[in-house]
Amino acid sequence: METLATASEALKRCSKCGGCQAVCPLYGETQAESYVARGKIFLIKSYLEGKVELSPKMKELMSLCLLCKACVDNCPNKVPVDQLVLAARREIAGEKGISFIKKNIFQNLLQNNGNLSLAARMGYLYQHSGAQGLVRKTGLLKLISDDLAKKEGLLPKVARHPFRRQVPRVITGSRPRIRAAYYTGCLTNYVYPGTGFAVVDVLKRNGVEIVIPEQWCCGIPALASGDEASAAALARRNIETFTRAGVDAIITDCASCGSMLHDYADLIEGGEARGFAGKVMDFSQFLNDAVDFQPGDREVPLLATYHDPCHLRRGQGVYAAPRKLIRGVPGLEFQEMKEADRCCGAAGSFNLSYYDLSNRIGKRKAKNIQETGAGLVVTGCPSCIMQITHVLEQEQSPVQVMHLAELLSMTYAGEADCDLRAG
Ligand code: SF4
Ligand code: SF4
Repeated sequence: METLATASEALKRCSKCGGCQAVCPLYGETQAESYVARGKIFLIKSYLEGKVELSPKMKELMSLCLLCKACVDNCPNKVPVDQLVLAARREIAGEKGISFIKKNIFQNLLQNNGNLSLAARMGYLYQHSGAQGLVRKTGLLKLISDDLAKKEGLLPKVARHPFRRQVPRVITGSRPRIRAAYYTGCLTNYVYPGTGFAVVDVLKRNGVEIVIPEQWCCGIPALASGDEASAAALARRNIETFTRAGVDAIITDCASCGSMLHDYADLIEGGEARGFAGKVMDFSQFLNDAVDFQPGDREVPLLATYHDPCHLRRGQGVYAAPRKLIRGVPGLEFQEMKEADRCCGAAGSFNLSYYDLSNRIGKRKAKNIQETGAGLVVTGCPSCIMQITHVLEQEQSPVQVMHLAELLSMTYAGEADCDLRAG
């Protein structure tokens, strides 16, 4: 991975043209030079030249980046700004440490699936025992902080049972032609099990034997916060179990996880990490490139649009496959939205750290969606689903938000394959 010590060549490539301003969602909302790529490059250069220190302000400005890569894509010199920002965050974490809460999340919670499941269970009980209703009714969180109350409203409903606990480890259809592992990611596992069932349903119907090994968080929250050691520890665990599964491909339904799994080859040295990363494919790319995908013939008579997750379009170069799959849905009409690949503002936990800013970015996305007249917005990242649902709800919009797998699963006659649930 890029370090600040090796970054000087990349920094020199910035010609200060300002091309990044036009595409940076943060600059679009704030017009602040320190938020845009050029400003960040200037700051990192100043630090390397000993002109500024790793101050709390510097830390704040480095945190203020969605890592959406829009600037990299639009840069005539291809300055890897997201990698430089990540390197700066690692440097800051190394020098100053990370917060107590983050440390516990990355080093204890995410490294232990039992603890993570327990935390999800507590979230479920909070939402379903009446405690959440009481907290909201009494305005308790608002009394502590208005911001905290808004963030609490962003959290989606936690599933009663995690997805992976509801399915067998190996799922075989009638005539499997390829064996693939499914990396479910934490959001599908704990929040959107319906996406998981839809992924399995579509894969099974298209000749895929699906293996769902024991797995851990992909590590992107830790890496994005500068805690490379925790991210690497999670990567090693995932590489080990998925390598043992002996599969032809590793499928993800989450753009952010997929992008991170590809990056394991940079994070961990050795052939095993490269072998693992080489097998990672987004769900849409896998259906398009690796199997003879056939949708069902049940019509979905809706006007739909598509949001490109940053980590799918720019992180993994997947753009055409989801559109082709959506257009193939019988009875569906597709309408491209304006700025389909502009970040929705979710960006991992950015929406929790900077709620108001993230919400402003999200509202632009909501406007672009609504202008298409579509009744459905499809995407390929649970984190984007969470954010887009939240901003559309604020507008009281009737537009549905759905993962591509759920849309494709709807084309098959009958219910999604529920008999695959284990016990
Ligand atoms: S577009 Fe690239 S070269 Fe131009 S200012 Fe931004 S980072 Fe520098
Ligand atoms: S990665 Fe995205 S948010 Fe960060 S500077 Fe570049 S365009 Fe702006």
